[in-house]
Amino acid sequence: MALVLLVLWLPAELQASPPTRGGQTPGVTWYVKTPQRLVALTFNDGPSPWTPRILAILKAFGDPATFFVLGSQAVKFPAVVRREVLLGMEVGNHTYGHINLAQHSFGQDYRDLQETNQILNGITNTFPTVMRPPYGAYNATVLHAASKTGLRVILWSWTENSGNWKNVPVAGIVARVMRHLQGGDIVLFHDAGNNLGPTLKALPIILKDLRALGYRCVTVSDLLNKMSRHSP
Ligand SMILES: [Zn+2]
Repeated sequence: MALVLLVLWLPAELQASPPTRGGQTPGVTWYVKTPQRLVALTFNDGPSPWTPRILAILKAFGDPATFFVLGSQAVKFPAVVRREVLLGMEVGNHTYGHINLAQHSFGQDYRDLQETNQILNGITNTFPTVMRPPYGAYNATVLHAASKTGLRVILWSWTENSGNWKNVPVAGIVARVMRHLQGGDIVLFHDAGNNLGPTLKALPIILKDLRALGYRCVTVSDLLNKMSRHSP
């Protein structure tokens, strides 16, 4: 037991095994186990004035991504949400106004997710099937509300937090995404923030690197379909 604890307390870079990519909670997805070089890029908190520029880059590469949008932003930029769908992007639910669902009741969570689903359906004519809780914060109540709304709970691979919304320089964003990348990873970006200038430069580099390494970008739902196909 003492030995096990010692290993757990070693800094990540001293451990021989690859870094842990996610948790164990049933009903929550951090990444997907697959031998295939598939990766799901995800963007939170939009749509925003930055989103069309991100979409233009993804379109130029022909790569899909998943956008976890806020209901409050979707009503401000409905045309951008429609364009996401038109370009083959997946639109997921990120709550109406970025509340911490884990600090609210089941009823409040359920109503928020339903309201956001209705807004997105009104814009895109389709209901989301995936959601990402703001702050990555969840508990049994959140999972129950998501399940009742028909939404799968998607977080991101712990090794794949680009930090793109908090003044990480271009090379830093690229390194954070590429350093530990494995097939089945879900990569975290934001398409809202004060300065996504570095993101607009990093994204083409990342997409080029992914292609050179034989990775293919898929939506989160496509990645999940892969998982169920490989499950016993
Ligand atoms: Zn968010």
